[in-house]
Amino acid sequence: SGRWVKAMEILKEFEEKCGTPIPRLKQVADAMIVEMHAGLASEGGSKLKMLISYVDHLPTGREKGLFYALDLGGTNFRVLRVQLGGKGRGIVNQQFEEVSIPPSLMTGSSDALFDYIAAELAKFVAQEGSDFKQSPGRQRELGFTFSFPVMQSSIASGTLLRWTKGFSIDDMVGQDVVAELAKAMERQGLDMRIAALVNDTVGTLAGGRYNNNDIDASVILGTGSNAAYVERAHAIPKWHGLLPKSGEMVINMEWGNFRSSHLPLSDYDHALDTESLNPGEQIYEKVIAGMYLGEIVRRVLCRMAEEAAFFGATVPPKLEEPFILGTSIMSAMHQDTSPDLKVVASNLKDILEILNTSLKMRKVIVELCNIVATRGARLSAAGVLGVLKKMGRDTIKGGEKQKTVIAMDGGLYEHYTEYRECLENTLNELVGEEVSRTIEIEHSNDGSGIGAALLAASHSQYL
Ligand code: ADP
Ligand code: MG
Repeated sequence: SGRWVKAMEILKEFEEKCGTPIPRLKQVADAMIVEMHAGLASEGGSKLKMLISYVDHLPTGREKGLFYALDLGGTNFRVLRVQLGGKGRGIVNQQFEEVSIPPSLMTGSSDALFDYIAAELAKFVAQEGSDFKQSPGRQRELGFTFSFPVMQSSIASGTLLRWTKGFSIDDMVGQDVVAELAKAMERQGLDMRIAALVNDTVGTLAGGRYNNNDIDASVILGTGSNAAYVERAHAIPKWHGLLPKSGEMVINMEWGNFRSSHLPLSDYDHALDTESLNPGEQIYEKVIAGMYLGEIVRRVLCRMAEEAAFFGATVPPKLEEPFILGTSIMSAMHQDTSPDLKVVASNLKDILEILNTSLKMRKVIVELCNIVATRGARLSAAGVLGVLKKMGRDTIKGGEKQKTVIAMDGGLYEHYTEYRECLENTLNELVGEEVSRTIEIEHSNDGSGIGAALLAASHSQYL
């Protein structure tokens, strides 16, 4: 029928806009490298902030004692305690608690958010079992993982540059996040020193390095997306401090804010951006990360419903609700292997209240999920290629095969198998067979929290 033809036209047009042939991905990687150089050259020199983390040495395995971490991401926060055994003994005991952040706190006041977090932390500390040992007379120490762009002035201080993902708390921007957390902990009567403030990418890099000496970079694919890597200190022109003894500095790229004319963007992406909490910002994140993939699918479906009556004469009301289609639902539909696409049908019914879809329609929805996930995964592979190239690890020099391991984490990477496999296959395709044998991606499960605890240990006041 005419309606079906029109719906297929909308789908095909979107697919063409989302094209990611290899030469284009290489252009994206090269544009990323140009921005990396610019961001390292001067403050504000690029969309890529290339933030100095003040982490100039990564965990060695000798860290010892009881340390805490608080990991504030995009949807949840986690509190954990880790008993570090010291040289050769690793993590002897750990415990964590995950708490979801009430959405109202994401757009409220700074005090309300931090009071909530500090109260949960105080509760967690109060419930400590005797299997965790704090040396007598010692103040508790915490690593604070805060997954938003922060301009640090030391390992344990830094001001929030702006919010990303679903957060928007105006009175926080420009404030020192460590001071805000410390004040909230004081209000709770919690005596604890914040020894390290780290981005989740930096925590993941540190946590990964603790287990694997070959890890030099990290990528987060969760609600948002970001990457960090180990840079040579003398390759950071904007760094005017003393060169660290190690000669190295971990850089938090804030790659989510990357943008380039080479990114394949559609009208749906432009509309999503315009209507977002942070228009004009985090453009790369908005095509690759978990907060947005399902929403892009929803927008295309909405247009098919409006202009091609894809779901019948009226547009299903639920389909018009922004962010109703989460990426976990999208991945469940995309990865539906049942012959009659049962999972697609039940999610359409439960989430969007769309009944009576034909198999043919459900196949179109799976195809749409595939287009959106494939573009995201291939573009994130291009970002990884950019980082590898900047580190000089995209070629084999003089027959020497230096191994490079990238620590990856985040709910999107962890749970969306199609996305993860597409990312890995695309990266192999981009670097070629020979180099791909020297590159490994390691899933660093919850490395960001443990990494923060490790960095608290290596910046302890008792060292
Ligand atoms: P954060 O990024 O908030 O620190 P996570 O790393 O746990 O938290 O990532 C959560 C995000 O991962 C969710 O917002 C969602 O986009 C994505 N995600 C979670 N589960 C799945 C899933 N089953 N399939 C695809 N994406 C998922
Ligand atoms: Mg996280």
